[in-house]
Amino acid sequence: MTRLSRRQLIQGGVLVAGAGLVGSSRRAWAQLSDGGSASESVPAVVIGSGFGGAVAALRLGQAGIDTVVLERGRRWPIRPDGDTFATWEQPDGRAYWLRDRTAEAVLGLPQLEKRIDRYVGVLEVFEGNGIVIGAGAGVGGGSLVFNAIIVKPRRELFRRLFPRQIDFDEMEEVYYPRVKRIIRSAPIPDDILSTEYYRSSRVSLGQARTAGFATRPVDLAMDWDIVRDEIAGQRVPSAIAGQSFYGLNSGAKRSLDHNYLARAEATGHVEVLPLHSAVAMERDRGGRYAVTMVPLSDDGSAVGRPRRLVCEHLFLAAGSLGTTSLLVRARATGALPALNEHVGLHWAANGDIPVTRGALPFTNAGTGGPAGHFILEDLGNPFGPTSLVELVLPPHINAALAAVGAPQHFANYASLGIPPAIGSFTYNAATNAVTLNWPGNDPRLADFLSAARQTLRVLDERNGSVTIAFNPSVSAHPLGGAVLGKVCDLAGRVKDHPGLYVVDGALIEGSTGLANPSFTIAALAERCMDRILPRLHEATTTTGSK
Ligand SMILES: Cc1cc2nc3c(=O)[nH]c(=O)nc-3n(C[C@H](O)[C@H](O)[C@H](O)COP(=O)(O)OP(=O)(O)OC[C@H]3O[C@@H](n4cnc5c(N)ncnc54)[C@H](O)[C@@H]3O)c2cc1C
Repeated sequence: MTRLSRRQLIQGGVLVAGAGLVGSSRRAWAQLSDGGSASESVPAVVIGSGFGGAVAALRLGQAGIDTVVLERGRRWPIRPDGDTFATWEQPDGRAYWLRDRTAEAVLGLPQLEKRIDRYVGVLEVFEGNGIVIGAGAGVGGGSLVFNAIIVKPRRELFRRLFPRQIDFDEMEEVYYPRVKRIIRSAPIPDDILSTEYYRSSRVSLGQARTAGFATRPVDLAMDWDIVRDEIAGQRVPSAIAGQSFYGLNSGAKRSLDHNYLARAEATGHVEVLPLHSAVAMERDRGGRYAVTMVPLSDDGSAVGRPRRLVCEHLFLAAGSLGTTSLLVRARATGALPALNEHVGLHWAANGDIPVTRGALPFTNAGTGGPAGHFILEDLGNPFGPTSLVELVLPPHINAALAAVGAPQHFANYASLGIPPAIGSFTYNAATNAVTLNWPGNDPRLADFLSAARQTLRVLDERNGSVTIAFNPSVSAHPLGGAVLGKVCDLAGRVKDHPGLYVVDGALIEGSTGLANPSFTIAALAERCMDRILPRLHEATTTTGSK
């Protein structure tokens, strides 16, 4: 198959009428449409290349459906000189999505902020009304910045939180294992856990047990052989040096660009367009979807004029914030006026609260990333169930805490709970902006917050430690806005909008049940694609070019 280059696609392709959906050649699909009004056309478009988008891209490609993936961020190939990503010690524009400063103020440490160049870096800090959200930007989405924790919820919590037709047994037998096989996540091997770098994990595990909490190991999306190479001095120290959110220069993180997306592109049917931001979508008279996309330069400014990409099947996978913003704007501006009243509602951040504890035994903090290797579960908590997973403590934050006399030694965690999904998105016509609103003082959050504090109280009382930071207005787990059963059916098909699908964290109503969300997002996306794809084929065989 002849591949059209990204440049050819952007400049408009070859005019060929009636491109088929399955097996059409790229020359056939990259057609000018609408009488040559600078639109290109392709059977399927995926917006976003994180967990949901990567799964959709691979399954579309394997089905032989020509697909373009629009990704606002850039690619991050691992460089042999070990300098792909910024580091905590030397942050630069690569660390953040279009910011002029690093973002420690969000964690209450403004004195640590440094000036950086405005650049299309990996970590977005999204400032909502009442909450600040971290999210990934780049080919691979959140997998570039995540702490690599791959964990599924317990059966009873999944059943409590998800529509009953989404069968946990099927998720456990089919979809979670399918994702795990492709990402190749695995628990930390004992020889690595026993090194000095991972002392903090061992301390935290011991403390969880002392406090009487249940614990279970988690998988990490890590190539542990590369971590062994780091330890042996054969790769740039990254995981062992406590790096995480800005990416791992050694290449030890199994981010989606190395697995799902690489496989999708290898099918020959998937073209990923980095540095292309989708800004609007609408439906044309023929029932197809037109996406307005803006090519971006390295500083985030637009390159040339916006372009239109027309498709029959549009998969929204821009993350909970991105997907919901596109939908809310499309409904408010009248571009997709029939989107229902649930769009932009039923949102929460997975009960994810950053926590730092002090007065621990020596933890060797600032090493041993990107995360701890187990999850602590407090299922008998009188206020509601909670869990705690250890994250790496960035070395410069460790040093800053010591410098201000906080009781040493420290460890960093994500506390997870089950908040009511009372967040919402609103549209401002004057600015064309979508705002995320989180009512942090709402009394309906009281039990969820008390539950998190209760777990920490028990942990600290039994271990003589103290919680020195607990910040419920910062999170990295946005979920909801286009949820299953309300905005979409149970396979991610947007109601009353044939050909429009949601396959990312926007589908999930605020919580994945005390588990970091990426595994469940990817597994649900696999489940959605299993149900969506046969109908695409059916449509193709009954209508020819449909
Ligand atoms: C610092 C950090 C650490 C985390 N650690 C973990 C962890 O250890 N384990 C875990 O399970 N979860 C973790 N998470 C959460 C996890 O990353 C997210 O839950 C997950 O990535 C969400 O998947 P998604 O498919 O919904 O969207 P994303 O992975 O966020 O992907 C969305 C993609 O869409 C792109 N995009 C957005 N808007 C547009 C647009 N308009 N046009 C084109 N492209 C667009 C974005 O750049 C992004 O690449 C972490 C998150 C952060 C920020």
